[in-house]
Amino acid sequence: MTLTTHATLGAVLGRATGNPVLAFIFGFISHFLIDMIPHGDTGLADNFRVHKRRRKQAVAYVMVDAIFAIFFVLLLANTRDIESMRTFTWGIVGGVLPDLLVGLHDLTKSPLLRWFMRMHFYFHDFFVKRKGDVPLYYALLAQVVLIAYLQTKL
Ligand SMILES: [Zn+2]
Repeated sequence: MTLTTHATLGAVLGRATGNPVLAFIFGFISHFLIDMIPHGDTGLADNFRVHKRRRKQAVAYVMVDAIFAIFFVLLLANTRDIESMRTFTWGIVGGVLPDLLVGLHDLTKSPLLRWFMRMHFYFHDFFVKRKGDVPLYYALLAQVVLIAYLQTKL
């Protein structure tokens, strides 16, 4: 899923828990569960990991994804009366942290992170491997709808 989806879901779950530690845990777990829904980025991930010459496109996607997520979180923080900035923050941290760890693994190839990367993609590819992926365009549209709904719960 996009980082904006992970961040918004983390923020909503964080609010629901009313506790920063639980917000982090629920955000973190939610990342793996929502990533199981096929969301169109398998081709991009393969471009990055397998077909090295198409890496630029994958890197650009991640960059746009990350900066857009920052803007969206700032928009929420500046336009909503966030009940608890702590649960908001820790829900988002938990929600996006798994992708940070995967990115750190890609950068460093650290064996300390290998098991985490494998676990992440066990969930991420669970249905995609069995049923195939969906077109990225539709997956992004679906996420816009999901985010539009989720942000009403903040
Ligand atoms: Zn992920």
